[in-house]
Amino acid sequence: MTQKNKPLEFDTLFINANLATMDPNIDAPYGAIENGALGVKDGRITWISKMCDLLDFEGEEILDCEGDWMTPGLVDCHTHIVFGGNRAQEFEQRLNGVSYAEIANAGGGILSTVKATREMNSQDLYQETSTRLIDFLYQGVTTIEVKSGYGLDMPTEIKMLEVARRLTEDHVRVRTTFLGAHALPPEYKDRPDDYIDLVCDEMIPKIAELDLADAVDGFCENMAFSPAQIRRVFEAAKKYALPVKLHAEQLSNQGGAKLAAEFGALSADHLEYIDEDGVKAMAKAGTVAVLLPGAFYYLKETQKPPVDLFRKYGVPMALATDCNPGSSPITSPLLILNMACTLFGFTPEEALAGMTRVGAQALGLKTETGTLEMGKSADLAIWGIEHPAELCYWVGDVATGYRIFKGEDKKYE
Ligand SMILES: [Zn+2]
Repeated sequence: MTQKNKPLEFDTLFINANLATMDPNIDAPYGAIENGALGVKDGRITWISKMCDLLDFEGEEILDCEGDWMTPGLVDCHTHIVFGGNRAQEFEQRLNGVSYAEIANAGGGILSTVKATREMNSQDLYQETSTRLIDFLYQGVTTIEVKSGYGLDMPTEIKMLEVARRLTEDHVRVRTTFLGAHALPPEYKDRPDDYIDLVCDEMIPKIAELDLADAVDGFCENMAFSPAQIRRVFEAAKKYALPVKLHAEQLSNQGGAKLAAEFGALSADHLEYIDEDGVKAMAKAGTVAVLLPGAFYYLKETQKPPVDLFRKYGVPMALATDCNPGSSPITSPLLILNMACTLFGFTPEEALAGMTRVGAQALGLKTETGTLEMGKSADLAIWGIEHPAELCYWVGDVATGYRIFKGEDKKYE
């Protein structure tokens, strides 16, 4: 088949677009094809070329991008976007000099979110989350990962995952993650092993039976769960063929990343305190490093993740908002791209890869989305900018002119 016959089969053809394909096989920064064309058929990318290679084209719909840049739709691979209430009052209390301990003793912190999430009905939880999600969609997100972990009991964990699954109604791809091992619920105070029993023996089997989770996650930290407890969670996940991920090495080095690598985890996330052995283990296992500059910023941390070591050993680096009501109440993926550059020393190209190609890899979706490549889902974002680095450079409103998911535009007012 010659190139010039093929365009006739398109549902939509985008012309005069600068394509930041993020395809590592294209030998140009951002995998760029300047002055290009991209064709879509049945929701998939079926044509990519320079405009000059596109001769007699016809299509249902031809859209002239007038020199705008097109990137893959953004992939936010780590969020806790489903939650009840918010913690703005605690934020204010702290700035008025009230200590963390005093706030926690008064029922604040993560347990206040657990309480609010348990009390909220499913419909309200969906509505609140869906409203938050709009910010992400306006900034070009076409795939989002959503964790549970504010229920810490069976009914609320199930409710959160059902709400997360329902977000697909908002025209976005959703990957759900069961995070029962997020924190110790108040009714299990001083009995963490009993709670891990509940997670492993009851919650994971039930959630697997209901097919509510695409992965299982945990929080390995002094203030949360030990590597031995997380190992039990991972073994239970393995029994049900669920891939694992881990909040690891955020506040101290527990060896969580190594443990995650041992289980072939999709990703280990945060990683400010990871050591060289941990990085090597991740490289060997092909585990993605998901870095979360929003939480680093919000918690005023000073220990940065070892970006140079990840580069040295070839560990792919993804970026995500970590949107949550405590340590990262951030609904702006583009702000995260900026923070990765300014706080962690990412190049703009690494940052954009972190929220497209590598973010998709962290969700086990690298053959489906994350680059502009033939055969992949037509998940696209079109930006009125003159260079892709602008996506990392501006702090403010670089709104997407156009967002396409599976080949379709949809308004999300
Ligand atoms: Zn998190």
